[in-house]
Amino acid sequence: MNDCIFCAIIKGDIPSRKIYEDTELLAFHDVNPQAPVHFLVIPKKHIRNIMELESGDSALLGRLLFKAQELAAALGCADRGARFVINCKSDGGQTVDHLHLHTLGGKPLGWPPG
Ligand code: AMP
Repeated sequence: MNDCIFCAIIKGDIPSRKIYEDTELLAFHDVNPQAPVHFLVIPKKHIRNIMELESGDSALLGRLLFKAQELAAALGCADRGARFVINCKSDGGQTVDHLHLHTLGGKPLGWPPG
């Protein structure tokens, strides 16, 4: 997608603080962190949001979730945990229309969200 900021990050046209990359997934630190640990894991395939997932994306999403768990543990969140969040469309607070999983940790987080 030409105007997608995360596709531009995947292509290397916009810099990011990468944590992990393979043929299907990219993980990078959020540019505006809301916790001591705050990173995003995205599929390289441009999927606009979780509502647009197809059955064929199941394995990809499983890998994405597992990668977030691995990286959260590597960044020190294994013992105290973290929050794994996917925002979707306007009511869900999504601001970038490329599916992404937030991982936030490193401090106690409030609930419910505002
Ligand atoms: P959401 O509101 O769920 O769509 O979250 C989008 C997230 O992307 C926000 O937390 C932003 O801070 C983050 N973000 C936007 N642009 C960049 C960027 N260039 N590099 C890293 N994170 C970004």
